[in-house]
Amino acid sequence: LPPVLAIDGPGGAGKGTVSRALAQRLGWNYLDSGAIYRALAVAVRRRGVALDDLAAVVATARAMDLSFRTADGFAVLLDGDDVSAEIQREETGAAASHIAPHPEVRAVLLEKQRAFRRPPGLVADGRDMGTVVFADAPYKVFLTASAEVRAERRYKQLKEQGLDVNLGQLTLELEERDRRDRERAVSPLVPAADATVVDSSGLTIDQVIARVLDLING
Ligand code: C5P
Repeated sequence: LPPVLAIDGPGGAGKGTVSRALAQRLGWNYLDSGAIYRALAVAVRRRGVALDDLAAVVATARAMDLSFRTADGFAVLLDGDDVSAEIQREETGAAASHIAPHPEVRAVLLEKQRAFRRPPGLVADGRDMGTVVFADAPYKVFLTASAEVRAERRYKQLKEQGLDVNLGQLTLELEERDRRDRERAVSPLVPAADATVVDSSGLTIDQVIARVLDLING
């Protein structure tokens, strides 16, 4: 099987930016597993399904046609529609974290994620890449940062996308979402036993990338 670099951690730690850059540097494929959970949240909303209607959420997960287009930049297509902008919103992330705790939902999404493991390798970004989805990954990083730094990074990121955000509210939403991710019974957000924990609070993107490359190159 092709090698996997699993990069897990809470929201705003810099996983997306770092994972994308590393995939490019290594020439490997890239999986944004959060985008799959977020796309499901969008599909559920579009169908008018309630977040707590588990049977309907699972049926939606089975039925959704999801694809990632990278030729002209990163785009997420849900049933043929470009939902890239919609999945970025913090409310979509929050909705995703409400359906993500259900093992039935995670089981449906498991194979969709494992299908990304193709030669020459995969950089997988998420919450349970190193603990569950690619538990046999040879390289595992748990990327974290202080709550303040993570909220500020997310704030800047959403602002740059032209979204209307409030730092205080975003901080609370991010904390609430992380708490849900950490405290759920199935696939909680915890570092894998064999993961290297990297705190990116005082580091630049390039420094984080260099540290992870050192890990891979031994
Ligand atoms: O990483 P991102 O912020 O896009 O993830 C959105 C939500 O999807 C997370 O807060 C989490 O609840 C869920 N998720 C998950 N497992 C993953 C990736 C995301 O449960 N591997």
